[in-house]
Amino acid sequence: MLDLFKNKQDDFLPDVTEEQLNDEKVIEEIWKLKEKLADQLVILGHHYQQDDVIQFADITGDSLKLAREAAKLDKKYILFCGVHFMAETADMLSSEEQVVILPDLNAGCSMADMANREQIDKAWAWLNQHTEDKIVPVTYINCDAHLKAFVGDNDGSICTSSNAEKIIEWALSRGQKLMFFPDQHLGRNTCFKMGIPLEEMVVYNPNMQYGGLTPEQVKNAKVILWYGYCSVHQGFTVEHIQALRKDSPETKIIVHPECNFDVWKNADDAGSTSYIIDAIEKAPAGSKIAVGTEINLVNRLNAKYPDKNITSLSPYQCLCTTMYRVRPRWLLSSLRAIDRSHPINVIKVPKDIAASGLKALDRMLDIS
Ligand code: SF4
Repeated sequence: MLDLFKNKQDDFLPDVTEEQLNDEKVIEEIWKLKEKLADQLVILGHHYQQDDVIQFADITGDSLKLAREAAKLDKKYILFCGVHFMAETADMLSSEEQVVILPDLNAGCSMADMANREQIDKAWAWLNQHTEDKIVPVTYINCDAHLKAFVGDNDGSICTSSNAEKIIEWALSRGQKLMFFPDQHLGRNTCFKMGIPLEEMVVYNPNMQYGGLTPEQVKNAKVILWYGYCSVHQGFTVEHIQALRKDSPETKIIVHPECNFDVWKNADDAGSTSYIIDAIEKAPAGSKIAVGTEINLVNRLNAKYPDKNITSLSPYQCLCTTMYRVRPRWLLSSLRAIDRSHPINVIKVPKDIAASGLKALDRMLDIS
């Protein structure tokens, strides 16, 4: 076996050479084990997964939809082909008896990694020292479970890219200021759409002393955004939009709200992955649409609608490299381990954290 694959999963890895790793042998065994374990297993595939993984998914969708649907099923094992925070959410929503597995523990999220609980606690204390106003914290669902617990314990809420507007409206009806993390772009774009001017928003950068803000700035701000972003969606630029407008003015541009403000503002339309999928489905035959989101989803939509021309807004591959870590061979090692009743890469959120995070999730579901 190659050194590359010497890790904790060794016992369950396919005994094949590198060239064979994606070949029929691996795929064939996954199909066999999936069928054998069908009564106790559900495989979830996030939209941004590659086709060679998504082909095995019983359910595809965004992270919240996947977690909620799996929790409703009478399946002991939930194999989440996504990234770490998604598997945590699935664990929080599932029953005690269900076991959530992430095929590769290295599949994290660069945005989620930009805010940890210690940084949030420090920022929260400092911000509250410099304002009498009530600050309501809202976290994007793309974050560590400890941040979900934070908003649960501090009268805040979680949001998704689909319901961010509703949740922010709720937050600002309960306090004078909003603290939004970890994605500054979703926060800024949504607040701007709601009529809050950019001058009333500041960015707290955890890598700078006092977040890089003065007490005066905190006092005057309505919205405090966290310095976090999705590295994939930062790949789309205004230059891409300008080039496309010049070369193909009939092409409609639709982007995800994790894109930066200028891209979001110059696009024809913007929305969550579900919104984008829906908009493409409803577009008339012959439509040309350039999409500012992860490339696997864009390519899949283009294949699904051969009568439409669906392309990426960027000429470069805007690929989520952490999602990309989930490969068929890790899926196979997870399935082999389940088959031997010895699951590996189990994601378990500590009970107290899960309880606080669930408060925030329930709040979000109530509001939206
Ligand atoms: S696309 Fe961006 S936000 Fe989504 S998992 Fe990848 S890095 Fe994280």
